[in-house]
Amino acid sequence: MNNILERVAYLRGLSDGLALESDTKESKLILEMIEVMTEMAESIEELSEEMMEIDDYVELIDEDLDELEDFIYDFDGDEEEKDFDFEEIECPYCGEIIAIDKDLFEEGECEKEMVCPNCSETFIVDNDACDE
Ligand SMILES: [Zn+2]
Repeated sequence: MNNILERVAYLRGLSDGLALESDTKESKLILEMIEVMTEMAESIEELSEEMMEIDDYVELIDEDLDELEDFIYDFDGDEEEKDFDFEEIECPYCGEIIAIDKDLFEEGECEKEMVCPNCSETFIVDNDACDE
């Protein structure tokens, strides 16, 4: 936007070169126009600077957001490893409710032998993830 300020300054220089007599209607008009153009150019310059500041700010927010996304993504990844997906099962022998970790099934494994911690009976737990 420097360009506009420079061009208005050039116009001002041209009008100075004309040595306008300030009491003619034409010179008043030209001088007033240059005055208005100078103010407009300065306003545009200010707006442009504000826009650049906002641009920088948005860029920073964008970077922060990226970091946040990475953090959440990593967090989720960690959670998957840490977080146990419990399932409650009932011992068919004594009725004891036992919390089992769904991850205890290996990939493709559809049932597992369990020993009830209450009655020590052995029974089979079905993996819900398997299609019947
Ligand atoms: Zn039992």
